[in-house]
Amino acid sequence: MTSPASALQAISCADDYDPNSMPVDRAREFIGRVLSPITDTERVALRSALGRVLGRDVLAPFDVPGHDNSAMDGWAFRHVDLATTKAFRRVGTSYAGKPYLGPVGAGECVRIFTGAVMPPDCDTVAPQEKVRETDAGVEIGPDYKPGQNRRFAGEDLKAGAVALPRGRLITPSALGLIASLGIAEVEVYRKLRVAFFSTGDELRTIGTPLGPGEIYDSNRYTLWGLITRAGCEPIDLGNFVDTPEAIREAFERAAACADVIITSGGVSVGEADFIKQILDELGEVLFWKIAMKPGRPLAYGKVGKAHFFGLPGNPVAVTVTFYQFVRAALATLQGRTDFALPPTLKATLKSRVKKLPGRTEFQRGVLSAGPNGNEMGYEVRTTGDQGSGILSSMTEANCFIVLPADTGNVEPGTIVDVQMFEGLIG
Ligand code: AMP
Ligand code: MG
Repeated sequence: MTSPASALQAISCADDYDPNSMPVDRAREFIGRVLSPITDTERVALRSALGRVLGRDVLAPFDVPGHDNSAMDGWAFRHVDLATTKAFRRVGTSYAGKPYLGPVGAGECVRIFTGAVMPPDCDTVAPQEKVRETDAGVEIGPDYKPGQNRRFAGEDLKAGAVALPRGRLITPSALGLIASLGIAEVEVYRKLRVAFFSTGDELRTIGTPLGPGEIYDSNRYTLWGLITRAGCEPIDLGNFVDTPEAIREAFERAAACADVIITSGGVSVGEADFIKQILDELGEVLFWKIAMKPGRPLAYGKVGKAHFFGLPGNPVAVTVTFYQFVRAALATLQGRTDFALPPTLKATLKSRVKKLPGRTEFQRGVLSAGPNGNEMGYEVRTTGDQGSGILSSMTEANCFIVLPADTGNVEPGTIVDVQMFEGLIG
């Protein structure tokens, strides 16, 4: 594995070589090299583990299922008897949770329900809809394979097997799986502490009146949401004016309390100089011009021991750069081994998109099913104005339309790549 210093050196070289355009993929790859996941764990009650990352394998303490059982509502019998028996004799009933414990002899059968324990003498189950119960007895019919509709003890998990590996996100179904093993507490990685602050003389906190040219600091709310949704602990340090003293204090406070620092604003060309100087003293940070839109300026590195992401100030660019660079990094730092960006879908573009070649664009889109029950695939249109400060373009969207760096204008009818904002979480 590359050390942070040498990876940062490599980034510097790449940056020196091509200072105006760091491709999105290359920036992602470099960020990935420097990340070392946290190792501290804590034990939490099962329900509190939702959305956390497993810090230790969960092992099955017993076979799952614990007994051979029926996969159907029906009739349990001995397969060998089919050759000689036309009508079976019912000798008992096995309910889920209330097994039939008696013997089952030749030509006999047991009424059985889904999940109920198989009577030890039986090996096969006939589903109830294929069976006729008449005065003569239970007519099962000939067409069964030995062992049909019978679930075997341990067929899901053998005692001692890894039910869920370390590094796995705990989803609702993972909670259910752990509960099915009778386990009430799990060991999870501690939450990653993520400090964030805004910079800019024009910013005011909500609840205070605006002076001329001032705006409310919205990025801290967006970031709070993004960080919380990423399963991390958000630490809001407030907003700071654009002076070296204020910014230095903000970084020092953040580095003292957090694993990760995220800022918004202040990394664009005009402002970078004194911030650069401060960050040179406090750590190792690189300033990139990413070949993407929105989100061109991005700073990345270490401040003290904390990982640092300096996002652009424009509200839409904050969200775009968070999703494209920060989210996967937080997942890795948080100990996740199963994180993947949502799969890219293909969709037919419904509106014309103006674009210059050179940068990857993340336009905000609305993805919907296409005609005839989606027979022709998905359709996507852009949301209104795509300016990087226009937050309503994000709130109306349900996806990014990803247009590669080398393309120019894109005409309606073109098949484009789409990244969904939300998916189901099993
Ligand atoms: P900057 O990167 O600092 O030059 O900021 C770029 C644009 O984003 C400017 O129009 C800023 O006013 C705006 N901006 C910066 N930070 C914030 C923030 N925290 N909330 C809302 N807008 C911001
Ligand atoms: Mg600013």
